[in-house]
Formats: sequence, C-alpha cells, structure tokens
Amino acid sequence: MRSVVVLGATGSVGRQTLEVADRLGFSVEGLAARRAGRELEELATRYERAAIVAVEPDEAGHARYRDRFGKRYGWGMGALAELAARPGCTVVNGVVGAAGLEASIVSLQAGNRLALANKESLVVGGPLVVAAAESGELIPVDSEHSALFQCIHGEAIPEVSRLLLTASGGPFRGRNVTDLARVGVDEALAHPTWRMGPRITIDSATLVNKGLEVIEAHFLFGLPFDRVDVVVHPQSIVHSLVEFVDGSLKAHLGVTDMRIPIQYALTYPARADGVVPRFDITRTALTFEPVDRVAFPALDLAYAAGRGGGTLPAAFNAADEVAVEAFLRSRIGFLDIAGVIAEVMEDHDAVDVASIDAVRQADRDARRSAAAAVARR
Ligand code: MG
Repeated sequence: MRSVVVLGATGSVGRQTLEVADRLGFSVEGLAARRAGRELEELATRYERAAIVAVEPDEAGHARYRDRFGKRYGWGMGALAELAARPGCTVVNGVVGAAGLEASIVSLQAGNRLALANKESLVVGGPLVVAAAESGELIPVDSEHSALFQCIHGEAIPEVSRLLLTASGGPFRGRNVTDLARVGVDEALAHPTWRMGPRITIDSATLVNKGLEVIEAHFLFGLPFDRVDVVVHPQSIVHSLVEFVDGSLKAHLGVTDMRIPIQYALTYPARADGVVPRFDITRTALTFEPVDRVAFPALDLAYAAGRGGGTLPAAFNAADEVAVEAFLRSRIGFLDIAGVIAEVMEDHDAVDVASIDAVRQADRDARRSAAAAVARR
C-alpha cells in the first residue's frame, strides 16, 4: 500500500507524516484537519490530488473551501469516516483526542492499515478497536508502542513477561508536591526531550500521557495491567523495553524523532533509509529510576481506570482533557489536574464499551462532571 491518508494533517504527527510520505514516494490521497483554516488550505494546494476534510469548519472557512476545492472538500465527522475508509490506503490517525476513535474503527473495518498515533482510540474504545483490527492491520505510531511492537516482532506474546514503558519524567521530574502546587503553564509546556502539541506536553508533565500509554499497551498487546510497567528514563533514548519469560530484555533505542516510528508504520515489516541523525551510543549515559507515584498520582489513576475497565478509561481521558484546558487557561493549578480526574472517576458509572455511542455518552458525562469539578476549585 503506497497510498496514505493523513488525519490530523496540520498537527505535529501529520506534518511529519507528510514529510516521511514525500520521501518514501507515497501518494497522499486524503488530508483531514479540525478547522478549514489556512494551514490545511496550504496542504490542499501542495497535494492537489488529495481529498480534503475539515471536521469542524467555521462559516467563513467552509464557504472559502467550497468555492476553492469543490468536490475535493468534505466536512464533518461523516466525511472524516469516509476518508478513513478509503480502500487500499494506509491511514495515519494523528487526530488529537477522543474524536479520533470512529476514524480508527472504520479504517480497520475497511481492511486498511491503521498507523495509530491517536492513543485515545485505544484508551476510550479499546474493545471496539481490537475487534475492528481483525479486519485490518493496526500498527502503533506512539514512540513507546512502536518500540514495543518492534521488540515483539518475531516473538510470541505468551513469552512476554512484562512490557516496560519508558517515561522521560517530563519537566517536573524530581519535584515534590509542594513545588508542583506552584508550577505555572509556561514551565509545564517546556518538555525536556520531545517537541509536541500543548495537551500532550501537559499530559507528559502530569504523567497522564504515560497512564494513557499503559492503557494503550494493554489493548495493543493483549497483556493484563500487572504485566505493563513504567520506568523513568530521562534521556528518552530507550523508547521502551520488553522482558521475556527467560529474563531477557529487548530494548529499542534511537534519537527522539517521531519520523522513525511514523516511517516504520508506513514501511512495516520492511525498513527504509531514514533522514534522522544516527544516535552515537558513546555520547549519552542511560539511566533509569522508578516513578514518584506520590508526586504524580495520575499514573495510578490511569491504572485504576484501566483495571476498572468499561467506560472508565474514557471518563479518565475526558476529565483530563477538561482539566488540562482549565490549567492552560490558568483556571486551576497543576495538581488540580489529577484532582479533577480522581473526582470524575469517583462519580462515573462505568458501562461496557459496546458501541461508539456508549463511549460518547461516557465522554459527555465525564466532561460535565469535570467542568463541575473545575468550577469547585
Ligand atoms: Mg508516547
């Protein structure tokens, strides 16, 4: 499959995907973004054969796109799903948030390869995505999961004793609760090793991101939560490790550059020449330490959400989205993010993830409950 559809095309993963796709000579068949803005318009001009989808166009953008792109242009969730189901494509899902779930499911149901960067798909709709993956091919793009996927390649899952996800520890590694109560938005946005969008950067600082990745790994590899661990590795060179039943550990190392896992998801099981600089193993000491679970309680909340199952991970995720938004607007403090999530989880009546509707309902309920929890602070 040498055709690619990029969902979340104007975001960080989307832009890097286009760079990789251009270099590999993939044809870009479709581009989707949230808004009908200038950024998507520029991409639409550059990739003149691609279908264009804006999920939530404003009125002015919508009118301009209709004039300019005619039948190439579609809008709304329906058009996004149609693009994701375009046959014979590798669909790179770089949508931010739970809005990416339906596109993941329909792309797999259409028999496509889904290069999944939208971790919320597995977090909020894990059982639905796992079922859909029987019709298609699910390849992770998240750097840790790509690392695990590459370590497991050629191995048997029953011989895996433990997955070890690495966490950089974020900008606040080593800080205690008293310090963390006072940190501001700018500090939280300064991630030491990875360059990413604002929500995932805050999620890295709280370790919510690592918690989402634990749930993601559970669904991706079908392992119970007591066989998924997290270790802090500040250099972000080891992207994750797999421990096998004989005690052997396999690790995936490399520079911190999303173009590596994106490219692997496009070329798997083959590899192609890369553009990223080679990592000089003689120049960096690699260290590992346990997570400070007192200063970063969100990680254990994620484990509790994953073990609770059903729609509880969806509630965890929705609560975090609302709390991060409130933090970015300086409405609540840094520690309140985990506080809001805990309150929402306490409130949530989890049901089975039987349909996308069940997930949406849980998402709406949790957002309402999170907004109330924010307002109380
Ligand atoms: Mg990651």
